[in-house]
Amino acid sequence: MNVERREKLYEGKAKIVYATSRPDMVVQYFKDDATAFNALKRGTIVGKGVVNNRMSAALFTRLGRAGVPTHYLGTLSDREMLCRRLEIIKIEAIVRNVVAGSLAKRTGLEEGTPIKQPVVELYLKSDPLGDPMLNDDHVRMLGLATPAELLWLRRTALRINTVLRPFLKTRGLLLVDFKLEFGRSGRKLYLGDEISPDTCRLWDVKTREKLDKDRFRRDLGGVEEAYQEVFRRVVGTPA
Ligand code: UDP
Repeated sequence: MNVERREKLYEGKAKIVYATSRPDMVVQYFKDDATAFNALKRGTIVGKGVVNNRMSAALFTRLGRAGVPTHYLGTLSDREMLCRRLEIIKIEAIVRNVVAGSLAKRTGLEEGTPIKQPVVELYLKSDPLGDPMLNDDHVRMLGLATPAELLWLRRTALRINTVLRPFLKTRGLLLVDFKLEFGRSGRKLYLGDEISPDTCRLWDVKTREKLDKDRFRRDLGGVEEAYQEVFRRVVGTPA
C-alpha cells in the first residue's frame, strides 16, 4: 500500500503512533521498552517490538477472518503496523480464564484457579489514576461509552476469547487473561492496540511456565527467551 509515515502523534510506553499521508490511517511503531506497575519499573526487552508487532498482526488477521473488526490494515516492517485511525475509548477490557495477578490479590483465590465462565473486567485508561476498575454505571457516569457500545464491547471481548483461546491452545499456550482496547471510526467500533505477551498472560499448557510479561514484572529471568518462544509458537518462524 502506498502510504507514507509522517509526524509523531503520540508516544506511549511501548509504542509510538505516527500520522500518515492518509488521514484515516496511522502507523504503530513497536518499541523494545518495557514498563510495569504504572511505569515504576522500567527496562528493555530486546526484540520485544518485533515479536509484539508480528504476533499482533497474526492474531488480528485471525480475528478479522472470524468476523471481529480490528484496526489492522497491514504490516509495513518488523516494527511497523499500518492501522485504521481510531478515536480510542478510554476503557481497558480484561478477559480472564484463569485466576492471576490483580484478580488473585482482590479475591484471595490462588493464582492458577480455573474460572468456569470467563470474567470481563473494565478499567479506566488513566495513568495518573492508576487505571481504576469501573462498573457499567461508572462508564455511563463518565460518558466513556454508550450503553450500546458497552454491550458490543463486552460481547466482542468474549468472542475474541472464544477465537484466541482454542487457537493458542493448539500452539501449547494457555490463555490465562488478556487486555483489549477498542475505538471508534465513523459509526463503527474496532479492536485496537495490540495482542501480545505484553498484554496477555500465556502459560505453557503442560509445564505452566509463564511465557509473558510476568517474567519481567516478577524478575523471573528468561524474559527475551519467553517472548521468542511465544513468537515461534504463534507466528512460526524465528524473530
Ligand atoms: N494488562 C495490560 N495492561 C494493563 C493492565 C493489565 O496489558 O495496564 C494485562 C496483563 O498483562 C494481564 C491482564 O491484563 O494479561 C490482567 O492484568 P491484571 O489485572 O492481573 O494486572 P496486574 O496484576 O498484572 O497488574
